[in-house]
Amino acid sequence: MSRTIKVSQVPKETGPAAWNEILDDSHSFPQASGNIETDWLVIGGGFAGIAAARRLSQLTGDDIVLLEACNMAEGPAGRNSGFMIDLPHDLNSETYAGGTEADLKQIMLNRAGIEFAAEMAREFGMPEQVFDACGRVTGAASERGITHIDSYVKHLDGLGESYKLLSADDMQQRTGISYYQKGLYTPGAVMIQPAAFIRQAARGLSDKVRIFEQSPVIEMNPGEPHRFRTPKARVRAKKVILAVNGHVQSFGYFPRQLLHVFTYASMTRALMPEELQRLGGEADWGVLPADPMGTTVRKTSDYLGSGDRLTVRNRFTLNQSMEISQKDIDGIVKVHDKAFTSRFPMLADVPLEHRWGGRLCLSLNSVPAFGELEPGVWSAACQNGLGTVKGTLSGMLAAEKAVLGDTELVKEFSNYAEPKKLPVEPFLTLGANATMRWKEWMAGKEL
Ligand SMILES: Cc1cc2nc3c(=O)[nH]c(=O)nc-3n(C[C@H](O)[C@H](O)[C@H](O)COP(=O)(O)OP(=O)(O)OC[C@H]3O[C@@H](n4cnc5c(N)ncnc54)[C@H](O)[C@@H]3O)c2cc1C
Repeated sequence: MSRTIKVSQVPKETGPAAWNEILDDSHSFPQASGNIETDWLVIGGGFAGIAAARRLSQLTGDDIVLLEACNMAEGPAGRNSGFMIDLPHDLNSETYAGGTEADLKQIMLNRAGIEFAAEMAREFGMPEQVFDACGRVTGAASERGITHIDSYVKHLDGLGESYKLLSADDMQQRTGISYYQKGLYTPGAVMIQPAAFIRQAARGLSDKVRIFEQSPVIEMNPGEPHRFRTPKARVRAKKVILAVNGHVQSFGYFPRQLLHVFTYASMTRALMPEELQRLGGEADWGVLPADPMGTTVRKTSDYLGSGDRLTVRNRFTLNQSMEISQKDIDGIVKVHDKAFTSRFPMLADVPLEHRWGGRLCLSLNSVPAFGELEPGVWSAACQNGLGTVKGTLSGMLAAEKAVLGDTELVKEFSNYAEPKKLPVEPFLTLGANATMRWKEWMAGKEL
């Protein structure tokens, strides 16, 4: 007898997906209704879902349906800071020389994910303001940050990776602000307008993929075919890719193996010409913090009516419920205001207009939740924070595994342990949140 999986939770977002809201783009996809038959069902329309649908469309001439619970780019895919990074935040080798095998493998895989996204950007005609292969700048505002950059550079030397050190003056010329004492530029990263990227990729795919928004899967019956229910549709699919990141747990998979971490961002209103002059610096830039617990900052110029804006992101909280409340967002206002005014004293009167939070999914041992879960059901989940890249990669490789089997890249990506079991509550949440607050405090001026 076929098994019924009642999806225990559908995504609930808190605060606006600001990157999406600031775009003057009214394109939408229909809601799924009635009876739908398909060869392939992709569930989730973030980086993983888009990449899975794209790879399936390249590898097969089959019918493909993508169901997104919300609207495209309203979930984490339209909430992130848009750094597609090829190099790991922390390089692991103790000796510097040569890097560890794990570092080298991660860099190779990350680059494959970025190249797959770059192909989409080229094919779908995305301009630089949506997909900009401008590299990555890391900024240090304190001695601690500088030490971090210096140690990172030794690892880069060991790996033979190219980079350029930036002085305080270089940083000020770029950003207009005098906050950073030192910077590090590495060439392999891309900055995206995340919501524009997702929306334009979805539109580009829509002649080969039937995309439905506002169509959460609420029930699944694995079998031949697999059967699904959304509020208004019944879907029958021969094969399915679950690209729902942490919500793969709502389908009953990976119980007590996934960490649901939220991070938060605030964005200014559109800056006036006189404010832009007061700030100076380049039209578009982004700075990642030398300390991973620090503040990420971006300046973005006008695109599709968005205006020029500044965005700050920091703070992590563990919320195993996979939901946060408005109160959680209100709780980060002070930290964000401080991060903003200390960096942009010349714009201290500019309000941060949009404030939001969004989900990440991590595992204790930093491995993905990837592979065939049962016959004809593949997972492309648990991106361990770097979801613009690893989401893209896992979606692309889930499709590849499903159609071609174990290609070289699939073998590399599958060659991880299972996500480790988590400690029991309340120790997990109390311990993780206390550790994160302590690390933030240690980050000092980098926050
Ligand atoms: C503030 C912030 C800043 C960040 N900055 C960066 C950054 O600079 N670089 C980076 O790489 N990452 C960043 N991230 C993380 C990144 O956004 C995520 O890791 C990434 O979105 C994960 O991609 P995904 O496709 O796996 O999952 P998601 O983007 O979460 O997409 C999964 C989709 O599945 C849908 N879904 C869930 N359940 C169902 C269901 N039952 N039926 C149908 N659809 C369903 C969801 O609505 C969602 O749209 C940031 C995140 C936040 C919140």
